[in-house]
Amino acid sequence: MSLVRGVFVAFVTALRQLFRRRMTLRYPEEKLEIEGEGFQYDAKKAIGIPGYKGRHILFLDKCTGCQLCSIACENIADCIEMVTVEKKDFPAWVVPKQLAAAATFPQNKKSLWPQIDFGSCVFCGFCVDACPFDALYMTNEYELTSYTKEGLIFTPTQLAIPPKEVGKTVKFQVEEMEAYHG
Ligand code: SF4
Ligand code: SF4
Repeated sequence: MSLVRGVFVAFVTALRQLFRRRMTLRYPEEKLEIEGEGFQYDAKKAIGIPGYKGRHILFLDKCTGCQLCSIACENIADCIEMVTVEKKDFPAWVVPKQLAAAATFPQNKKSLWPQIDFGSCVFCGFCVDACPFDALYMTNEYELTSYTKEGLIFTPTQLAIPPKEVGKTVKFQVEEMEAYHG
């Protein structure tokens, strides 16, 4: 290809891009809209429900402390530690409303709950698959940065908190020959 032809092709290609729709996001003011409520697993039907694999959510009223999630993670990232949290030590605002008065979790007799180190987690979702009680799902929350390694360790209380509102979101569109958001 001659130099003149090369310059011409590059110029035309650049010119064509000018009329394409924007693909970059003004993050963090804008965030991409994520469909669904995260990766879940229906233990009764034994099927996964597709979704984004962000940080986990723990349902305190369903977790029995069986440790199966922790065992599933052992040969992957070994980042789930089972910890003891007495029921009375959970702040009232993370306790599901229907249990708030009693603040008791009779299904979890030993008060054992998973704690996850997101510094090691590879977000594979195997722990969610392993939970027979639908007590552990993944959410759309992906902003997990921390100045310290300890800040990436989520206690059972932190895991029980629903993901935060993300603010303004934009939808990603894929069309033939073009991908953009708007
Ligand atoms: S998603 Fe994270 S915590 Fe769960 S099994 Fe995979 S590495 Fe372990
Ligand atoms: S989250 Fe599920 S698998 Fe893990 S301890 Fe609780 S009930 Fe068992």
